[in-house]
Amino acid sequence: MHFIETRGNDGQHPKRVSFSVAILVPIASFGGIYSPEVLPDLGETFLQSHINSNYKTLARAVLTAFEIDVHTDIIEQALALYDAFDDNNNPVPVVKVKDDLYVSELWHGPTRAFKDMALQPFGTVLSSIAQNRNEHYLILAATSGDTGPAALETFKNKANVQVVCMYPVGGTSDVQRLQMVTEDAKNLRVIGVNGNFDDTQNALKHLLSSKAFKDTLKEKNILLSAANSVNFGRIIFQTIYHIHSYLELVRQNAIQSGDKIYLNVPSGNFGNALGGYYAMKMGLPVEKILIASNNNNILTQLINTGAYDLRTSDVIPTTSPAMDILKSSNIERIFFDLFGSERTKELMLQLDNEQHYQISDSELKQLQSIFSADFCNDDEGKQYIKDAFSNGYLMDPHTATCFKVYETCREKSLVTMVYSTAEWTKFSPVIANALTGEEDAHDIDALKSIANEAGIEIPAIISDLFDKEITQTTVIEKNEIEKEILSFL
Ligand SMILES: *Cc1c(COP(=O)(O)O)cnc(C)c1O
Repeated sequence: MHFIETRGNDGQHPKRVSFSVAILVPIASFGGIYSPEVLPDLGETFLQSHINSNYKTLARAVLTAFEIDVHTDIIEQALALYDAFDDNNNPVPVVKVKDDLYVSELWHGPTRAFKDMALQPFGTVLSSIAQNRNEHYLILAATSGDTGPAALETFKNKANVQVVCMYPVGGTSDVQRLQMVTEDAKNLRVIGVNGNFDDTQNALKHLLSSKAFKDTLKEKNILLSAANSVNFGRIIFQTIYHIHSYLELVRQNAIQSGDKIYLNVPSGNFGNALGGYYAMKMGLPVEKILIASNNNNILTQLINTGAYDLRTSDVIPTTSPAMDILKSSNIERIFFDLFGSERTKELMLQLDNEQHYQISDSELKQLQSIFSADFCNDDEGKQYIKDAFSNGYLMDPHTATCFKVYETCREKSLVTMVYSTAEWTKFSPVIANALTGEEDAHDIDALKSIANEAGIEIPAIISDLFDKEITQTTVIEKNEIEKEILSFL
């Protein structure tokens, strides 16, 4: 399979690249990204034949259908990392919460958030490709809290790769920050930036497209790459769990194979939702994809009105910070798929230059035939956490946003798959507040009170963080990012 550019070709970038090139050099002409030229058609027989497959077997089959240029040994090594998830035979449990609402738990990996689903195997794939090509890569990551820990974890001590991870100071939970600043490996550097997530993401995008920066790296024999959610090396692994979750519903007799379901996804950069969209296009029976946002409801606006407008809104800090995002990068791939490269270029360049765009009525209809959207504010989210807990289900504030959308966006009473993107341990102060009313607790105290309320233990992987030595202490202003990165190299 090959990958083509979302904004068309400028005569300088390759028009069409292999999977390994698309993941090593993810930025295409005019600031676009690479998208699959065609998607494999999996269809009903594929689903039937994998009804009894475990996660890795299914994953192998999906990756094979994509015909990527990565050796099967490397794919095996990458998929083996799922063996270290809580249940070595099933990294993604699907849990019935009530009626026709099921939750697919994507956070049973080493950093307790769904980023591990893609980044764990991605680290192995990228490092192996770099070694085979005898090239050295700098991975830049901007994180709102979960990508950072997952990227550091996967690239720690991996050959031919160095990682610089930037996080917004005060924009992450204690646990997320500790997961990053206690990482100790020669090839990793963690940088706190005074600013919000969009500031760090913009700085990163700027560096990724800066020729001067790349030239400086070249002198050091280093190439630049990114592990952010636009990287197709992550997206490909995010198609698999949608298919797995569907098959789990069949296995649990919640549906019959072929029945349509709703996918209900808490969204920020739209990687998770894009994985669902591709799964649907590859033949998964999906009625619609329901997009949940928090008060940063730019995706709700887009899907309900066709307008995307950054002029009037600043990022609002919420209790679901991994979704405190206004520039949702993977929407670009949806537009490319629906409207083609010329139109995508027009819309995306208008967004870059004028901070807004409006799609046409017919384009909006197309979008709405696939997606519905709503947003959940912090108070509502708190109530959903409380209600679910009294029904025996403990969930994090990102997952909670889906529960609102489950109530407001479904037109049919079909089985609905909510994607749970973080364990309760990562956002404990918010959850403790919802459950007991305690305010402004530090993570460690909130963890204890939730564990107490729920009659469960704090997982050691989390409680151990509080005793680990802090090795990464750099904090800088946003205009110092480039200098800081170069000094690390
Ligand atoms: C990253 C993240 C999201 C948003 O996922 P996208 O794929 O960027 O839309 C939601 N919840 C949590 C906990 C996350 O870490």
